Amino acid sequence: MLKVLFVASEAHPLIKTGGLGDVAGSLPAALQAQGCEVRLLLPGYRAAIERAGPVTTVARIASPQLAGHIHLLECRLPDTEVTAWLADYGPAYDRAGGPYLDPLGHPWEDNAERFALLAHVAAAIALGQAGVSWQPDVVHANDWQTGLTPVFMMNAAQRPATVFTIHNLAYQGLFDQAMLARLGLPESLWTPQALEFHGQLSFIKGGLVFCDMLSTVSPTYAREIQTPDLGFGLDGLLRYRTDRLVGILNGIDDKEWDPAHDPQISRNYDFNRIREKLTNKRALQVEYGLTPDPRAPLIGMVSRLVRQKGVDLALASVPYLLQGPAQLVFLGLGDRDYENTLQALAKRHPGRVAARIGYDEAAAHRIESGADMFLMPSRFEPCGLNQLYSLRYGTVPIVRRVGGLADTVVDATEENQRAATATGIVFDGDSPAALVAALARALSLYRDPNRWVSLMVRGMQQDFSWRASAQRYIDLYHSARQLHH
Ligand code: ADP
Repeated sequence: MLKVLFVASEAHPLIKTGGLGDVAGSLPAALQAQGCEVRLLLPGYRAAIERAGPVTTVARIASPQLAGHIHLLECRLPDTEVTAWLADYGPAYDRAGGPYLDPLGHPWEDNAERFALLAHVAAAIALGQAGVSWQPDVVHANDWQTGLTPVFMMNAAQRPATVFTIHNLAYQGLFDQAMLARLGLPESLWTPQALEFHGQLSFIKGGLVFCDMLSTVSPTYAREIQTPDLGFGLDGLLRYRTDRLVGILNGIDDKEWDPAHDPQISRNYDFNRIREKLTNKRALQVEYGLTPDPRAPLIGMVSRLVRQKGVDLALASVPYLLQGPAQLVFLGLGDRDYENTLQALAKRHPGRVAARIGYDEAAAHRIESGADMFLMPSRFEPCGLNQLYSLRYGTVPIVRRVGGLADTVVDATEENQRAATATGIVFDGDSPAALVAALARALSLYRDPNRWVSLMVRGMQQDFSWRASAQRYIDLYHSARQLHH
């Protein structure tokens, strides 16, 4: 049985800020269902420990950089058979605020130390130095927070195979050069061939340079990050390692996101009972003070409010939408400017535009169940999960043709409609005019109930469960093991 240590900085439902949390919360269980034995390693954030319920301490790990010991707390990842380990070290993780940002929204000043610590614990477990009687065949690290994991294993005589997955290349974990010594890393790593990135220490390069195999979360994004446009300065390195890099589409937790059984929505439905979705639409309109009109096209957007997500494009399209009967509901958290603009917009157009600033999982489910369309005009999108949830909830996604959006939504061209493959609206370009044209197409289809319902139903019939992708990860683990031996 293949033993996998899955290392991540967040995993739903213990702690989540975005798509990485969804993946780390669902892929380990899917791997176990296909015969792997997985241990999930996370930082012991205060919020995660509180949510974990009863835990047992299974190890005490020392680190030369730290005063006290790190306690490895064991629990069950809720609603799964996966054993999770929380690396509990109070000075690093026992605080109010988010996993990466303080309560004011600034990165924690000691993020380098906090996530080096996570990588240190991962390496100790991987090398059999943590005092737990379990050692993995493969260590699977995710995003920059875990990038130093293979670095801390570099000099071991024997080590497990290593895999690194890029969930978002835009976040790289860059710190001052002085941090190299502070983290106890050798001077020899200060070169562009190792951890140096234009005069800064790059955590993500640890993963990209030193892991046996690399992956990212969609085939199109795997190609895009090898180009200067979307490579964020790392495209050269990724082209150099192109034979080690694969794109594996994310799956979704299809129990958590299932309109037929979702306890968080007003009325359950599936593609045979699609009219029931209207009950959720009405509830959403009432909840947000929108005019409760079943015929008004209701457009939802749930997103981190950052430039990546094309929030500015969405905002620029609002005047166009307000010329017709459309209604809009936004749920998001992020850049203050976007938050303020959205709130002002909602105030100016009560009954037509609603905005909730915050992070609210249940509200996200209600928007997916109640909206007619879902807006995702991202500038880049490694995979994207919300368009997958939207497809499953019969909420037609309107997406830009990038990354995972291009791989998962089939545009409603005349041809694709005739061939019965269309599932949404896909547009090119990053101008407001391009989005407005896409919205115009969506609204015109919406006025043709037969065509609209067939789009909805086809979306709901797609299978984006983890089954196929989990097998691809297992293949990736085997490749890593072969290359490593
Ligand atoms: P990213 O990881 O870049 O944020 P994804 O589409 O891959 O984008 O995943 C986003 C996940 O976070 C989805 O599960 C989405 O529902 C959730 N999400 C984002 N913002 C919010 C919010 N304000 N409230 C609730 N859920 C949110």
